[in-house]
Order: sequence, then structure tokens, then C-alpha cells
Amino acid sequence: VFSAIYIEEDIADHPRVEQLLKRFPDIPTIQCDRFGEVFNRKAQNFRLQKANPALILARKHGRAVLPAPAGYGFDDNQSFYFSHMLNCVYDCRYCFLQGKYRSANYVFFVNYEDFAEEIRQTANASRRKTVFYSGYDCDSLALEPVSLFNDYFVPLFAEIPTATLEIRTKSTQIRSLLAQKPISNCVIAMSFSEVKAAQKWEHKVPSLNKRLDALQKLQQQGWPVALRFEPIIWQPEVVASYAALFAQVFDKLDSEKIHSVSTGLFRMPVDYYKNIVKLYPDEALYARQTITTDGMIALQKDQETELLESIEAALFQFVPREQYYRCA
Ligand code: SF4
Repeated sequence: VFSAIYIEEDIADHPRVEQLLKRFPDIPTIQCDRFGEVFNRKAQNFRLQKANPALILARKHGRAVLPAPAGYGFDDNQSFYFSHMLNCVYDCRYCFLQGKYRSANYVFFVNYEDFAEEIRQTANASRRKTVFYSGYDCDSLALEPVSLFNDYFVPLFAEIPTATLEIRTKSTQIRSLLAQKPISNCVIAMSFSEVKAAQKWEHKVPSLNKRLDALQKLQQQGWPVALRFEPIIWQPEVVASYAALFAQVFDKLDSEKIHSVSTGLFRMPVDYYKNIVKLYPDEALYARQTITTDGMIALQKDQETELLESIEAALFQFVPREQYYRCA
């Protein structure tokens, strides 16, 4: 599963670490001082490391809860994000994490109690309702058997009714959710791309059918589920492909019970983009014409607005506009 497990000395005795090590008795362990000395080391190659990543167990220092980037989210509540992990077991070629981090190793911050404290404080300090996104620097559930994220954070949010937790994922690891009573302020948001994009760029991601099955089970049990169609990447017949995807999705899911639906175009900070181009000089996606605005790079496309509106029109055949937002 992991080539090695690095453990910060500071958290070596943490119960979450002890529990995890019992699950992987045969994986070599290495003590380190701070996770950054392994994770941020120079002369690492994300692409090579991705084939054989290690797990790094660490303590999150400093702020654990941060304001969500502008345009990230489904309404004008106060939005925040937190990352209990860095990096992802899947390998989407469009993923910004490849350009953000030098290392493809997984970092797991085990001090959940500090995250919880900060989430409570942030929610209580806000006069408005709050939303907390998980799954910004990782996939929230892909390493669920290791992180046991749901077992800790869902009961936490059950105690903070003014706050909503959005769990963003492409994973089917939902067993621990199905074992709990659903709460209305915990939304499971699954990201989908049309079928040709998924085949081309979403490596190691569970199949569309498996993920729809997972969402259907969650929805039938009463969990709020949301749909994220992003990043939309222009290809021939992209509108027809999304229309076909929407038909497949809403054949499986009850559109009346969907929490929210969003779309988003391919965007990423310029520096991350440049790093990825160096990693994948042969990838056609990164050879396209681009435009840069305020430090963010986008794929150049004529009539982009019209195309997006056509995709939205196909979506509105299934869901009312009030449930929909465009990601900035
Ligand atoms: S599932 Fe999400 S976090 Fe993981 S590689 Fe794909 S885009 Fe990145």
C-alpha cells in the first residue's frame, strides 16, 4: 500500500498513529523530526514518486481552518476549508496537486482534535451559517480506511448545526457513512467528468457506475448528496457527452433530493501549471492555448460562454436552477 511510513517524533505515541501502525505491521517505519523535511525536500519528482508513495504521519501546526478561495462553494455562507491529508491516491492528469507539491507522498495529520477545536471556534465566531469543505488538498474519502475521517468528523458536525461539512470525493469508500445516522448538515459531494475526459485523464478513479451506486446508496439512506461537474475541459462533442452523463446520473439519483449541483472550468494557479508542464511535457492537455488572468491559467476556447450555457441547459432538464451554481 505504502512504500514506507514516516512518523514525526512528536506524534509517535498518538493513539491514531498506534492504531494505524497495527494495521500495517509489515511496512517499514522511519522517524522524522518535521514532515516538511521529507515532503518538501528538493530534487523530488512527483511523477516518479506517484508510482510508489510513502505515508507521512504528522501534526498539523498553525491554522488548520482557512477561508475557502473565492468562488469555491454553493452559497454566500461563510466558507472555509481544512485538509486532514495532503495528496491523493488517484492520479487525475488535470489535478493541481501535481503542481502544488514537490512530493507525491501522502501526508496524514493525525491531530483531529485540534482541527475540531478550530472548526468549533470558527463556526461559533461567525454570525452567519458556515460551510467547511474537506477535500481541497486531497480526496476526502479515498484513504478512509486509514484516516477514519467520517467516524470523527461527522459526529463533530452533528454537534454544530449552524455549520455544514461538505465532503468532496471521487471515492466509493462510504461504508463508515452508511454505518452512521445521516445528518442534514453533512453533504457528500461527488465530482464527475464526461466519459471521454474520465477515460483520458482520471487514472485510478473508481468507475462511474460504482460511484453512482455509492451515491445512490447514500441518498437512499438519507444523506444529502451533491454533484460537482468539474473541471469541464473542452473536447469535440463535449456538450453531447455531458448531456449523456446527466441522463445517466439522474437515472440513478433522485434529482429532487439533490443538495446542489455545480460546474467549473479548468483553472489553476500559473505556478502550479508550469510545474505540471515540466512533469508531463508529452501531455496534450498542457500543450493547449491558455489565457492568464490574475495569476490563474485557463484553457483558451472560443465561445466558451455559449458552450457552458449549452451544458447548463442540458443540466436544467434534470435539476432546477436554484440548486445550481457555477464555480468561479
Ligand atoms: S481525485 Fe481529486 S484530488 Fe485526487 S487526483 Fe483526482 S482531482 Fe486530484
